[in-house]
Amino acid sequence: MTGQSSSNNLPIGRGLRGRCPRCGEGRLFQGFLSLRSACEHCRLDYGFADAGDGPAVFVILIGGCIVVFAALITEIMYQPPYWVHAALWLPLILIVTLAPLRLIKGLLIALQYHHKAAEGRLEYRGDE
Ligand SMILES: [Zn+2]
Repeated sequence: MTGQSSSNNLPIGRGLRGRCPRCGEGRLFQGFLSLRSACEHCRLDYGFADAGDGPAVFVILIGGCIVVFAALITEIMYQPPYWVHAALWLPLILIVTLAPLRLIKGLLIALQYHHKAAEGRLEYRGDE
């Protein structure tokens, strides 16, 4: 170990902080979820970055599990009126979906860069 393995230098740390996956300095996002065209520090072109539906899928599955589990436990234990469910779970849905969305998108893009993940391409090998 050289002491360079803090979470800021790992792709996971860079992605979660919304920083450039190569240098860790430049910002990745321009708005809430829209990407910049390139890193302002090392000029890495962000054209490769395509998280697709990945962040939304993770948010839906994890957030949905949290909210449904909490609603079921509350209903089983207290049987509150329906307006209580609406008052509790609608704000919680917003919190568990919007808060982690940017973190997960940054993380997936950093991992995509780290693992050089891209669409498959056909190569001509010349022997057929
Ligand atoms: Zn950079």
